[in-house]
Amino acid sequence: MIKITGKIYIKVALAIVIGAIGTSLVTSVFLYFNAVSSEQSKAQALIEQVAATIRSTASIALYVQDKELAQEIVQGLVINDLIAGAELSDPLSLDVSYGDLSDDKGLVKTQIQHPFIPNQYIGQLLIHPNRHYIQSIAQQNAINDALLLLLYSAIAALFVSVLIHKLLTQPIQNLTASFLKIDPRNTETMRTLIHKKNDEIGQLVQGINDLMGELKITLENETDLRIKTQALESKFRLIFEQASAGICLIDADNMITAANPAFNNIQPNWLNGIAFTYLFENPDQLASLLIRIRNEESVNHLSIDLKCKSQLGEAKRWVHCLFSRVTNQRSQARPPSPVDSEGSLIEVIMYDVTVRAEKEQKTRFQADHDALTHLKNRRAGESEIENLLQTVNLLDMGLVLFMIDLDKFKPVNDTHGHDAGDRVLIEVGKRLQTVFAGRDELCSRWGGDEFVAAYVVNEVNINEIQTLAQSTLDSLRHPIEISDGICCSIGGSIGVVIAPIHANNTKDLLACADKTMYRVKENGRDHFEIYDPSWK
Ligand code: GH3
Ligand code: MG
Repeated sequence: MIKITGKIYIKVALAIVIGAIGTSLVTSVFLYFNAVSSEQSKAQALIEQVAATIRSTASIALYVQDKELAQEIVQGLVINDLIAGAELSDPLSLDVSYGDLSDDKGLVKTQIQHPFIPNQYIGQLLIHPNRHYIQSIAQQNAINDALLLLLYSAIAALFVSVLIHKLLTQPIQNLTASFLKIDPRNTETMRTLIHKKNDEIGQLVQGINDLMGELKITLENETDLRIKTQALESKFRLIFEQASAGICLIDADNMITAANPAFNNIQPNWLNGIAFTYLFENPDQLASLLIRIRNEESVNHLSIDLKCKSQLGEAKRWVHCLFSRVTNQRSQARPPSPVDSEGSLIEVIMYDVTVRAEKEQKTRFQADHDALTHLKNRRAGESEIENLLQTVNLLDMGLVLFMIDLDKFKPVNDTHGHDAGDRVLIEVGKRLQTVFAGRDELCSRWGGDEFVAAYVVNEVNINEIQTLAQSTLDSLRHPIEISDGICCSIGGSIGVVIAPIHANNTKDLLACADKTMYRVKENGRDHFEIYDPSWK
């Protein structure tokens, strides 16, 4: 806040007064020395004049050797205030003096001529000037001059001060007072700076008025913008806080930086300090997906169903998440920086889809699995074999495939009923899963009483395959309880094929397996055979 005082005026007046006094003093000193020198010159000239007037009288006094006249002459000279002492003498015997003869400075020496013979000198007159008197006169004159000068200077300083006050400091003070009265928010007072003169101050006032005008427009615009932004902000806050979908922001380290209440409801296990990814199963997979969103220009949004991590006893929950990379105008305008944390923010919108996801999971399971044994069905099995073959070919490995058909299963149905047959099929499925446990890349029910199992090996070992085939047969031969106290023994015929030794594609591999299995049936069932390409 500027305080209005007469500071400028006082400063300017003081500067003028000090300047005037300084100038007067310097000038007075100069005048003093000037006056002293001038007074001395004047006194010297006067003394020389006096000496000239008494020169003829002194000549007569020396010529007639009149000591009394000589005495009168020197005494008459000393009466003059300008003369301290005088001495009249000739080379013979007359020597008359009077007054103070001690100071020789400025001594006026006059040769006295013979009264009748021109150019013959008969003595001399020495006049000692009264230097103290001359100096005091000079000082007095100098002081008078200095005082006069000071008076002039004071009058001039006063005049200049008043003039400056009127022309400069007063308008500036008025300007300052008007300036302080201005309220930039109020239009009425915007033009209170009035100074009509077309001088520099007038231009300054005009400039300030223009600036205030601009300032007012800017302020109005900013106020408008602030009001709009506040309204927008409160709308967004409302959306954020009232949304039924969970919304959160995650930073470059996948930490949650902001979350709405719905997010906390959907993710009650969320605590500060836990990374977003660790709220879900397969956190590493999710982390890779987030890296893609941050780094791939073409991927701005991604949506996915995620299974939440649940605590013991908690029901499994699924959420659908929509991930969007957060970019704003500013970060788009400048080139991306590796440390640009704003550019690494990801917005997540999520909602609970447990019911839908479970339904989908169930539907997918039903589509891929056999309803009776819960093993994979033929369609899923064929697709799985296709995938396994690709892996095997890519990594130069082997795929061993067992095609198993139960022997004389129809009679179980016929004798004990369809349900009993079903029970046998379920039990067979379980046993096959047990036998192939640890290498069950595929264990499927192909249809009816036919099953297909397949597994990948680094190197094909016929002995191991034979041992596994024998274990499978042994497991199938083991009696199965079909109802209380009633058991039945059932065996199986197994055809074994190996990829890529016997075939390199699904169709051919299955055809070979089929052929081998039927060969076993034809050869008395209840054993296994490994495909032999030499068969016709
Ligand atoms: P083989 O020794 O030659 O294999 O003869 P099999 O008696 O086992 O008869 P086959 O394999 O030719 O036929 C399978 C039978 O399995 C035909 C069908 O009645 C029966 N079957 C097929 N699907 C089901 C099912 O879902 N439940 C029951 N209980 N039986 C089924
Ligand atoms: Mg059969």
